[in-house]
Amino acid sequence: PHKLAIITGASSGVGLHATKALIDRGWHVIMACRDLAKAEAAAQELGLPKQAYEIAHIDLGSLDSVRAFHAAFRGDNPDAPRALDALVCNAATYMPLLKEPLRSPEGYELSVATNYFGHFLLANLMLEDLQAAPTPRLVTLGTVTANSEEFGGKIPIPAPADLGDFDGLKTGFKAPVAMIDGKDFKAGKAYKDSKLCTMMMSRELHARYHQETGIIFNTLYPGCVADTPLFRNAPPLFQKIFPWFQKNITKGYVSQPLSGERVAQVVDDPDFAQSGVHWSWGNRQKQGRDAFAQGLSDKATDAKRSEQLWELSAKLVSL
Ligand code: NDP
Repeated sequence: PHKLAIITGASSGVGLHATKALIDRGWHVIMACRDLAKAEAAAQELGLPKQAYEIAHIDLGSLDSVRAFHAAFRGDNPDAPRALDALVCNAATYMPLLKEPLRSPEGYELSVATNYFGHFLLANLMLEDLQAAPTPRLVTLGTVTANSEEFGGKIPIPAPADLGDFDGLKTGFKAPVAMIDGKDFKAGKAYKDSKLCTMMMSRELHARYHQETGIIFNTLYPGCVADTPLFRNAPPLFQKIFPWFQKNITKGYVSQPLSGERVAQVVDDPDFAQSGVHWSWGNRQKQGRDAFAQGLSDKATDAKRSEQLWELSAKLVSL
């Protein structure tokens, strides 16, 4: 019997390579993707063995689609949890050049809807399925640029992550509201905000459910995987220079296979069996360095704020 993982956004980059790394460790992976043909082509190009993966449809930007994905996972017996050893919340969209927000079917700003609300709903729906496995883990991709504890999180292009007093969520997060803090739309900041929310979500999951369920909830920063398609909507010159800059100047560059291997470690290795931790291998890559628990910003660790964010999100996704 193989262990079973669901990885969202497994059609490219970190998620695709995490799929490969887990399959190499003997896991079976459900690649949860919005573009089935693209996912199949990517799986074949990487030579993934056919019996080791399935591709299932999910559009994380649509709450109905997330619910439909979960229903399809349960199959004929919708009320019976189906054992799931790991859920990896990986998919994300980054659209730094947008001047005006795009909207999800529910009317929410699309990067927060996709990167955060979709995963918030999915994680909640899957808790019982995770509980049905012997040693389940829920792993969420975080990022340095959403952690103002670190230098990378202080960069004001266009602004550091900042959720303010959640005024945008409190007022329903629909047009004309486009940002969680209720202020003017800044596309690059919307991405950072969404990632900060997913990191707070993981901490709140840990606070609410770890003791009761035994599920291990953690986040990781895999390093700067500067050449994934995540940056496809960034200016062309940036896309050209960024990998070089990360390789040679900041030394933050991590290859896609290594990023996938790191996700697999956090999903599968006994060394990562601690809940409530944000794992990092540092920002300057050094060969052979072990992962360590990276501290998060006060913004991310304030338990009251995480709880408040949870309550507001639960309302907006109709939990
Ligand atoms: P990619 O753009 O390569 O992969 C993102 C994946 O998410 C793709 O499979 C994409 O699908 C999918 N996706 C996007 N929108 C949706 C949606 N609405 N529904 C379902 N799937 C969707 O980016 P990366 O691999 O670089 O990023 C993966 C994760 O790693 C993200 O959470 C990112 O924040 C995080 N990360 C990345 C870093 C980096 O340097 N690259 C650094 C730190 C964290 P499709 O192929 O159809 O577009």
